[in-house]
Amino acid sequence: MLDVLVVGAGLSGIYALHALRSRGLKTRVLEAGAGVGGTWFWNRYPGARCDLESIEYSFSFSPEIEAEWSWSELMPPQAEIEAYLNFVTDRLGLRDAIRFETKVAAMHFDPAAAVWNVRTEDGDEYQAQFVIAATGMLSVPIDPAISGMESFAGVSVYASRYPRDGIDFTGKRVALIGTGSTGVQALPILARSARHVHVFQRSAAYTLPTTTRVFAPGEFEALRNNYPDIRASQRQARAAAARNGAFAALAFAAERPKLREASEAERKAALDEFGIAGALYWSDVMADPIANEMARELYGQAVSRIVRDPATAERLTPRYPFGCKRPIIDDGFYEAFNRENVTLVDLQEEGIQRIVPKGIVTTRGTIDFDVIFYATGFDALTGALDRIDIRGPSSRLLRDAWREDGPGSYLGLQIAGFPNLFIVGSLGGPGALANVIPCSELQIDTIVECIERARAHDCDTVEATALAQADWGELISEMVKDSIALSPGCNSWWIGSNVPGKPRTFLSYPGGYPEYRRKLEREAEEGFPGFEFA
Ligand code: NAP
Repeated sequence: MLDVLVVGAGLSGIYALHALRSRGLKTRVLEAGAGVGGTWFWNRYPGARCDLESIEYSFSFSPEIEAEWSWSELMPPQAEIEAYLNFVTDRLGLRDAIRFETKVAAMHFDPAAAVWNVRTEDGDEYQAQFVIAATGMLSVPIDPAISGMESFAGVSVYASRYPRDGIDFTGKRVALIGTGSTGVQALPILARSARHVHVFQRSAAYTLPTTTRVFAPGEFEALRNNYPDIRASQRQARAAAARNGAFAALAFAAERPKLREASEAERKAALDEFGIAGALYWSDVMADPIANEMARELYGQAVSRIVRDPATAERLTPRYPFGCKRPIIDDGFYEAFNRENVTLVDLQEEGIQRIVPKGIVTTRGTIDFDVIFYATGFDALTGALDRIDIRGPSSRLLRDAWREDGPGSYLGLQIAGFPNLFIVGSLGGPGALANVIPCSELQIDTIVECIERARAHDCDTVEATALAQADWGELISEMVKDSIALSPGCNSWWIGSNVPGKPRTFLSYPGGYPEYRRKLEREAEEGFPGFEFA
């Protein structure tokens, strides 16, 4: 019998294991992948990179790890993040407590014994007093339902479970489906070696061109010496990333003039100086729908300065407000469309009818391919828990509870009706809108404190109250009621609207990291009033 079972060995699971073991709690981790890293283990597609700076996209709990690990690039690529998470795992001696290639199928709470009975897909069983679901925010891919997909005779590649040995695109005819963060990052790299890439775009992206770079000699060491200040400023930053990463050009938008009041010459000057970001960085864009529409038009002008073919530039200009979807970064996305070997297929003009052995049939004809590369997104935040057979004391399935009552949590830490089950990086937390590493550290520290409190008071169970959960849900609803993300026609994973049948609701806490931190600290200081200990 375990004290705690952690599901998932991504960055949250790794830290949870360390934090629990340090407190003497008998803990095991079950992980579906063959290595640690979660999202950073699976998404090893060409171009995969974090949009925050490495100095901030790193654990803060261990000065030793800060001192011993060196980042080589300003914004870390997937391979370096995966290597970092492996380093942390081994440095802390965690590997022996992780069971890899083990997927959890069911978790049933036994109210008489106050334990979770956990069954894996292989049929192995574990018992634990507490479970922490560190199952990831963007860990369940959605494959599109295109007729004939399985009949394709070439190679079907899924960005979210990309082969470890990679794929050689040299001389290949490639279809890239999806232009979210993943597709936009992958295109410039695919285009360098493929014979031809057809980009199948359903919605045009708002994407901020950014270039990363290797640190200059001594640059990283100077930053590392300044870790205490960097961590302190992160804690004050809304996104838990004070240096703003790839979004630096937008970070000071609130201090800039209003687009509605800018002259033609001022708008042109903004594009001259800041390129794409110059279309979006005005103070009124997120608050005023008219300014947002003006920004959309200006964005189109910025795109047409890069993309030479006017019809392609027009198709690459979004037809929805900025702020609907999570902003994207790219390194050469628009420039790729100036290459002879890249063609845009606008699915709003030319839909996919079916996939056949030799390629893709659209309403305009058949295009032959050697590779179809799917970058079609995730069933975010609730997807991972939804796929496990989770039953609380009344045997009610979690997914039924979510379907009938709507998805909810208290503080992004627990779900009422499911005692002793904690969640990390899932619904109700701030991670979709902030640097996920500090958010996970904060959530796990709070969970560990909650578990220790239960044990110190000889309580068998701890469970968020339905009232506290309802209040948390109302607070979030109130905060997002005027949000652009929920405006009609907006579709995105962060409101669940990319998954057929999923309730259209904002699933994350939008108040920013510092306020979230204060709420969790207050909850702990006051003895966890939103939880019932029994
Ligand atoms: P995504 O943002 O949901 O984008 C999925 C893309 O696939 C969209 O363009 C979508 O079109 C399209 N699509 C979905 N189903 C389709 C279908 N049946 N036919 C044609 N197109 C289809 O997913 P993602 O790109 O994987 O990114 C998800 C999130 O992961 C990001 O927002 C970000 O938080 C994270 N991420 C971050 C980084 C980074 O840090 N740089 C990199 C990758 C991912 P619609 O827009 O019309 O739905």
